Amino acid sequence: MLKDDIFLKIINKEIKSDLIYQDKYVTVFNDINPKVPFHILIVPNIYIKNMNDVKNNHLIILGKLLLTASKIAKLKKIDKSGYRIIINCNEHGGQKINHLHLHLLGGCYLGKMLTI
Ligand code: 5GP
Repeated sequence: MLKDDIFLKIINKEIKSDLIYQDKYVTVFNDINPKVPFHILIVPNIYIKNMNDVKNNHLIILGKLLLTASKIAKLKKIDKSGYRIIINCNEHGGQKINHLHLHLLGGCYLGKMLTI
């Protein structure tokens, strides 16, 4: 539910996070429970529940999410060694927070890890 959206609260600074970057479209912060040495979340500033809810009018935001991931990876110098981007969707996808987000993971060899 929108009023329980913890990521919206982080975006609006109603609750604290390790903020890395924010602009008109996206907000980036460290995952509170990192699964690998480098684990950040890239989220749209507007509420989109998950990949099932993306629409044509989200095209710019969707592009910004990926572009931001690429820029942050370079900024944090994980681009050469490599990284992975994961988007979980609904129960089988392992989505826990109902606000679309990209996991940007790196800092170690990720192998063929399937969940995050
Ligand atoms: P999901 O399982 O929905 O794809 O991923 C949700 C992610 O959000 C998890 O990796 C979890 O650790 C992270 N997370 C949950 N609550 C918070 C929070 O309050 N702050 C931050 N920074 N990350 C959170």
